[in-house]
Amino acid sequence: RAKEQGRNTYQFYTEGMQDREVMRLELDKDLSQALANNEFVLYYQPQLNLDNGEIQSVEALIRWQHPRRGLLPPVEFIPLAEESGRITDIGRWVVMAACRQLAKWKGTPQEGLRIAVNLSGRELDDEDLVDHIREALALEDVPADRLEVELTEEIFIQNIEHNLNQLARLRQLGVHLAIDDFGVGYSSLGYLRDFPVDLLKIDRSFITDVTERHDDAVITRAVINLAHNLGIEVVAEGVETEEQLNFLKNHRCNFAQGYLISRPIPVADLEQALASGVLVAAITADSGL
Ligand code: C2E
Ligand code: MG
Ligand code: MG
Ligand code: MG
Repeated sequence: RAKEQGRNTYQFYTEGMQDREVMRLELDKDLSQALANNEFVLYYQPQLNLDNGEIQSVEALIRWQHPRRGLLPPVEFIPLAEESGRITDIGRWVVMAACRQLAKWKGTPQEGLRIAVNLSGRELDDEDLVDHIREALALEDVPADRLEVELTEEIFIQNIEHNLNQLARLRQLGVHLAIDDFGVGYSSLGYLRDFPVDLLKIDRSFITDVTERHDDAVITRAVINLAHNLGIEVVAEGVETEEQLNFLKNHRCNFAQGYLISRPIPVADLEQALASGVLVAAITADSGL
């Protein structure tokens, strides 16, 4: 009996593994057609300037309109795309789509907006990355400083020499550089000295309890001061409450991004929200911006 049970357990386990492997393969196959079928879409999440209450930047966050499974968040397919290498083509699409959007906004109230795109470390491996960004900007006739590139600290852990060279080329191109999820990346602070970036985005994990936990408050204040003393601006990620927003304003954080201001939304909703002023109005009502 025990043996039977043991065998069943074993069987169940392997079947589970097989199921997962089958699902992975299927998803990878779907992913290989997603670009051709135009199934990716960019959602945009605004960043609020805490000095003047304006939205001057939006982060582009990819979604996959999967034919059977509906709208998938990046966590469901970006890691897989990184493993298989498909991320390179996806990243090119993201950059191109962002540039196209910036071009469409010319002559509209969104004219001054900047778009931030996320690039994973794997995307920096591509020697042609910088050329592609340059070509996308040129094709759409968009100035490089309208585009921001968000990279996580992982790029300062492996392939450092190559990655720093890529960053230098990006910087020379004139795009803005941001360090995403700052503070959770196990990398050395030395790169801030060796490689000046434009923006630090404090990871959401520090902001969530910033008004409840002394240690998170101390770390957040220290990061803001460190950045400012190095001439770098600071974005707080994951701002969900008025209290967090007020804390950040009081400690001179430059920008806030999070559900309090807006979730990531489709471009039509973004344009409507910007036009109606709700993004800023919702904030100014209570926080005296
Ligand atoms: P990220 O760049 O750090 O983006 C922030 C994530 O936090 C987004 O999740 C956003 O929806 C979520 N978020 C924003 N504000 C709040 C908040 O107030 N509360 C909470 N709980 N969450 C908030 P999303 O869109 O699922 O993206 C997850 C990650 O996927 C991104 O993290 C980024 O690393 C990656 N990603 C997204 N788009 C792309 C892309 O085009 N290319 C690459 N390589 N990675 C991407
Ligand atoms: Mg990001
Ligand atoms: Mg982030
Ligand atoms: Mg984050």
